[in-house]
Amino acid sequence: MKPARRDILTGSAAVAAAALLGCRASSAPAVVSVSQRRVLHTLPGMPTLEGAGVRLTRAIGQPALRNLDPFILLDRIHSDDPDAYARGFPDHPHRGFETVTVMLDGRMRHKDSRGNHGLITGRGAQWMTAGRGIVHSEMPEQEQGMLHGFQLWVNLPAREKMCPQYYQDLAPAQLGEAALSAGGRVRVIAGHANGVAGPLRDRPTEPSLMTLDLADDAPFELEVPAAHTAFAFVYAGSVDIGPEGSATRVTDGTLAVLGEGNRVRLRALDQAAGVLLAAARPLHESIVQHGPFVMNTEEEIQRAFADYRAGVLDRGG
Ligand code: FE
Repeated sequence: MKPARRDILTGSAAVAAAALLGCRASSAPAVVSVSQRRVLHTLPGMPTLEGAGVRLTRAIGQPALRNLDPFILLDRIHSDDPDAYARGFPDHPHRGFETVTVMLDGRMRHKDSRGNHGLITGRGAQWMTAGRGIVHSEMPEQEQGMLHGFQLWVNLPAREKMCPQYYQDLAPAQLGEAALSAGGRVRVIAGHANGVAGPLRDRPTEPSLMTLDLADDAPFELEVPAAHTAFAFVYAGSVDIGPEGSATRVTDGTLAVLGEGNRVRLRALDQAAGVLLAAARPLHESIVQHGPFVMNTEEEIQRAFADYRAGVLDRGG
């Protein structure tokens, strides 16, 4: 792994930068570091069969990348063939983390053991805090012949694994949306980009999550907190990610794990490139996962299975 390039601002430039950041400028020598994240490695999504026979690709949660703290899983469904997904994801449990569904094309119909139901429509998202437990079904529906979306699992810290369940439905009109050059758009579900903020409530991992539809090769840069784990998944076209001169080309269907830094630079190589960008604070806690249960210890996993068998998963804790 190459060290990240660092542009160190010193002297008057640093004072000016500090003032921009809202710090009090002083005559003391200030050093503000701006570094762009490089691509540490890339990984294609792995073809996987899930639910009742849904064909999807798994980017995070596959043998080559078990997890990316605090991200546990990233799946992409992308198909124009109803046979590939029509049987959907019938009733199944979750405990100990959050599931995030992001639809680009098509819809996801959702129903749970506590009587909640909803429809996640194209360009919308749902942030579900499974917490102590939920049993739910997720049934994909195509729109104009196409289904395209993601599911991301975000871990919860030990102190919140058994918290009450909570849904935040994020309809397309609620997302922070900003125009990019040549008709491109950024849609912010969580965090900030281009002066707009996502509607997600405060979460323990302080996530950023957005889709970028890039329509020309103008570079796009955004800030990502330096302490956060970050990845980009390209869902259309090809994109150069990283500092100018040492960027990595990332193509459709590929996950790019990003290295250290506080900014990300992307430049599309096609006139219709799409990127799902995510970042969040790592938890640095033990992870014991058994399928849809993600806890800190083996005992907690056994308890989840026992609660599920007893029909009290959503009342556990
Ligand atoms: Fe689920």
